[in-house]
Amino acid sequence: MFRATVLTLYPEMFPGALGLSLAGRAMERGDWALEAVQIRDFATDKHRTVDDTPAGGGAGMVMRADILAKAIDHASPEGDVRPRILMSPRGKPLTQERVRELAAGPGAVILCGRFEGVDQRVIDARELEEISIGDFILSGGEPAALVLLDAVVRLLPGVMGNEESGDEESFEGGLLEHPHYTRPQEFEGRAIPEVLTSGNHGKITKWRRAEAEKLTIERRPDLWAGRVEKK
Ligand code: SAH
Repeated sequence: MFRATVLTLYPEMFPGALGLSLAGRAMERGDWALEAVQIRDFATDKHRTVDDTPAGGGAGMVMRADILAKAIDHASPEGDVRPRILMSPRGKPLTQERVRELAAGPGAVILCGRFEGVDQRVIDARELEEISIGDFILSGGEPAALVLLDAVVRLLPGVMGNEESGDEESFEGGLLEHPHYTRPQEFEGRAIPEVLTSGNHGKITKWRRAEAEKLTIERRPDLWAGRVEKK
């Protein structure tokens, strides 16, 4: 079973959205589990302080290495083979490929930063894998952890009823997905593209492929270039 442990100052944010819908039902069935650990429980002073001012000066606060290390060691004792991840805007951008790898593994231990971030020494000492969900700054790692886990959980065996729908999705073939249509046949004067109602499956596949390529070239020249290079 995929086991996620999230280290956070806001355990109340979990499972959050992951307690509903596909992920929530999968959790109820026992297809995956999530434990949120309060980092503050590992503080040593009476105020339960987890952060301090940055060495060298400057704005904000930094999460302390010693307290984080204690939390990590508790959540992920020796012998735990799950990857240890730090949500971080400086991390490697999350990809569907990494999501797939994680879904195939035993779970993940995920550290959520707050304030200006975490002391570099705990990243180095605990060999944390830094992962970013995009080139923007969140106020904390929690929403990023929810995003990562959502992407992973939907790939776990049995979670997404229709297994097939995974393969055609955006990114899986290095392409964005083709557009979708459903009833009504006409909406505000706009018809469904004729080919889709033709019943000709060969033609439909070709049309979808061409639309996917067109969209990818237009919107994500970076993806398109990477895809061509791989061949
Ligand atoms: N001072 C940092 C930003 C800190 S934001 C910098 O400029 O790099 C506070 C926390 O939010 C981070 O420690 C991280 O855990 C989380 N976070 C913010 N943006 C993120 C992103 N794009 N991806 C993943 N985590 C992010």
